[in-house]
Amino acid sequence: MTVNFATEFTTSKGDKLSFNTGLFINNEFVEGAGTIDVINPTNGEKICAVQAAEEAQVNAAVDAADKAYREVWSKTSARERARLMHKLADLIDANVDEIAKIETLDNGKGIAFSKGYDIPEVSKTLRYFAGFADKLHGKVIETEGKLSYTRHEPIGVCGAIIPWNFPLMMAGWKLGPALCTGNVVVLKTSELTPLSALKLAELVKEAGFPPGVVNIITGYGHIAGEKLARHPKVGKVAFTGSTAVGRLVMKAAAETNLKKVTLELGGKSPNIIFDDADIDQAVAWAHKGVFFNHGQCCCAGTRIFVQEGIYDKFLERFKEYTSKTKVGDPFEQETFQGPQISQVQFDRIMGYIQAGKDEGATCFMGGNRLGNSGYFIEPTVFTDVKGSMKIMQEEIFGPVVAVSKFKDEADVIEKAHDTTYGLAAAVFTQNITRAVTVANKLEAGTVWVNCYNELDYNTPFGGFKQSGIGRENGEYALDNYLQIKAVKINVEL
Ligand code: NAD
Ligand code: MN
Repeated sequence: MTVNFATEFTTSKGDKLSFNTGLFINNEFVEGAGTIDVINPTNGEKICAVQAAEEAQVNAAVDAADKAYREVWSKTSARERARLMHKLADLIDANVDEIAKIETLDNGKGIAFSKGYDIPEVSKTLRYFAGFADKLHGKVIETEGKLSYTRHEPIGVCGAIIPWNFPLMMAGWKLGPALCTGNVVVLKTSELTPLSALKLAELVKEAGFPPGVVNIITGYGHIAGEKLARHPKVGKVAFTGSTAVGRLVMKAAAETNLKKVTLELGGKSPNIIFDDADIDQAVAWAHKGVFFNHGQCCCAGTRIFVQEGIYDKFLERFKEYTSKTKVGDPFEQETFQGPQISQVQFDRIMGYIQAGKDEGATCFMGGNRLGNSGYFIEPTVFTDVKGSMKIMQEEIFGPVVAVSKFKDEADVIEKAHDTTYGLAAAVFTQNITRAVTVANKLEAGTVWVNCYNELDYNTPFGGFKQSGIGRENGEYALDNYLQIKAVKINVEL
């Protein structure tokens, strides 16, 4: 039976969007074992249903990838791989309007951000990594009587499991380094945001990638994700998501074929503001640091520490600045904050807000639901917090921040490190020596100085402590997709 998975959807603004709802395996859209309803977070209504992969479809995708690797991709020149990646980037750029609208519809992020940041970042990432394709070479090592050279070889089939907060950008972060290094991919999108990657799938085919090189499947995490993480033919899995699920992925790998695992996990990042900071600059970045993407950022600066001397002034200005946050319809150009991703996340966040109040913190501003349809929450600021409180220890993943006071450098370093996470941190000061000293001391994979949330495809990103293993982006990302072979030649007579 042939099924037509092409779908059209008309947005509230009258835009017609088209995308497929099948599983993308071997460059075809195929049927799954069931379906998953895709919900519009702005109003809670169903957009469409997509196919859901279970074991049989995961196996089919991995088999397609494996065959493509052995028969085609491993014999494809680096230059050709790069050409295809550039072609895909061109197609993304040419379709940026529609892809951005699909992302905004499905995820709820402001159109200004999906169009101005997320989607362009995907094509930039692909282009950046395409440039490496023909520059991946080993070393020559001479020892007495032996000549060795190293080859940087691909792993083969790489699984990628991605979250819903930056759906297409996370796909790009995985596809870029995987493809340029000569690997093939089975990418599982989040069941909450499958649509933009399904649009990407159409473009993968249009770009001319051989069937099976890029497979994109939608499915529930504990079914499709888990099967991918356990699959014996998958040589590596790159996971972005929560620390709890990251643990499961690592365990699945350990219990099966010891596939290589990279993990990009959660965070509870400290944002440190010293007395000598430019206060207006600090306020603006601290706001972006926590409320960007509705607080749904792994690196969100959710614990703001302000030095005693400017604490009151900071709080007053932060409140004033935050009260101007434009929350509402993500299809409005000026919207900064749209809805949270789902009812489940909405309930979790409201639960954390309640926990903050119950544990004795002061809800300084916000704390309530906004409107009565969709998953909107007011930007929320807590004060009078203690390090041991739930809202200071657990990742909330919503527009909720805790602001507290510190005395001096030693005091704030101790407070900043009172977490199991180590994804990011920031320091605001005009004193260069202090900036560098504190940046060096902080246990975090990224430290921003006088800015926040500045991520780039050419700069490594990843976690210390329980925020992850391995790095994405930049040259460092390549290591995770290559294995080194040493060839030793006897040159003794
Ligand atoms: P999640 O862990 O619930 O899901 C992530 C992905 O894993 C989804 O595709 C899901 O379907 C899949 N999954 C769920 N259970 C699985 C299982 N048992 N086996 C295999 N796969 C499974 O995370 P989420 O709610 O989608 O995303 C939010 C989390 O992601 C936050 O903790 C956030 O900090 C983190 N995150 C981290 C980064 C980073 O780069 N460090 C970036 C974005 C998001
Ligand atoms: Mn959705």
